[in-house]
Amino acid sequence: MAKHAPPLQLSERVYALTGPVNSAIVAGDGGRAVLVDTGQDADHGRRIRRALEELELTPVAILNTHSHADHFGGNDYLVRQFPDLKVYAPPFEAAIIRSPYLEPVYLFHGAKPPVEMTGKWLQAKPSPVHEEVEAGTLEVGGVQMRLLDTSGHAHRMLSVMVGDALIASDAVFGPATLERYPLPFGQDIGNQKAAHQVVAGAGASVVLPGHGEPVDGSEGIVAANAAAIERAEDAVLDACEDASTEEVLAQVGDVMGLVMEDLARYHLNLCTVSAYLTHLRETGRVSESLSAGRLTWRRAA
Ligand SMILES: [Zn+2]
Repeated sequence: MAKHAPPLQLSERVYALTGPVNSAIVAGDGGRAVLVDTGQDADHGRRIRRALEELELTPVAILNTHSHADHFGGNDYLVRQFPDLKVYAPPFEAAIIRSPYLEPVYLFHGAKPPVEMTGKWLQAKPSPVHEEVEAGTLEVGGVQMRLLDTSGHAHRMLSVMVGDALIASDAVFGPATLERYPLPFGQDIGNQKAAHQVVAGAGASVVLPGHGEPVDGSEGIVAANAAAIERAEDAVLDACEDASTEEVLAQVGDVMGLVMEDLARYHLNLCTVSAYLTHLRETGRVSESLSAGRLTWRRAA
C-alpha cells in the first residue's frame, strides 16, 4: 500500500486518508468539512490540506477521537492554516491534547520520561480544544454525526458514525495491524471489550479502523479484535506466577512474539499489561502481594 494514498471515498460523505495512521474527512453542506483525527504530525496535516483542496472543501472543525499523539499530531499545523477551525474532543482526553507532555509522563509512571519517549510518536504538539463532547449526536458544518462511546483503548474515546459509515478510530484495529502488533494497546480492558460490542452493534456497512484498511461490515473486524484481547488476557493470566509487572510483560512478550526494541514500545506494552492486571484484579482472577519492596502478581486461589 502506498504510504500517501489519495483520499478514499467510503460513503457519500466520508473520505479516508489511510497510511500508518488513518484520518477522515467528512463532507458537510456548502463546501464545509469536518476532520476526524489529524494523524501523526504536520506531514499528515499537509496531506489532509491537499485532500481538502482536491475535494474543494473548507474544514470548519476537527473532532479528535482520543488523545494519543498519532491521532492529533496534525492539529497544530491545521489550526495555523485554518484559524477558524474549532477543535472537539472527549473530556479527559482534551486535557492531554492541550498538554501533550502528559502522554510520555503517564507512560513513565508519572515521572520525567527518558528523552526517547518525547518524540512525535508519543508527544504531539499542543493543540487547543474548544469544546469537550460526549457520546450522542453532534451537528457541525452541516454534518450529522452520531458519537459512540468506545472508551477502553484510551480512557475516553469516541467513534464517529456518519450515515452507515463508522470511523471507529482505535476502537478496533485492522487485521494486518493486529498481526504486526498482537498486543493491542489498551488502557481500560473491561471498557475495551464493551467497545467492541458498541462497534458490532452500530449497524455500519463500512468501518475505518485507526490503523489498517477499511473493511465492509463490522463482524470480521470485531471478531479479530475480540480474539486478540482474549489471547492477551490469557497470556497475562498465565504469567501471573509470583511475577512482577515487568516479569509479566517479559513473559507475555515471549509468548505473543512482541518486538520491544525501544523505550516507547516497551512502555506502551507495559501500560497495556498493567491495564490487564487491573482488569484481572477487578474480576477476581489475580491478586497482588507487596513484600520486601516487590510487587508481584499471582492467580487468585
Ligand atoms: Zn490510540
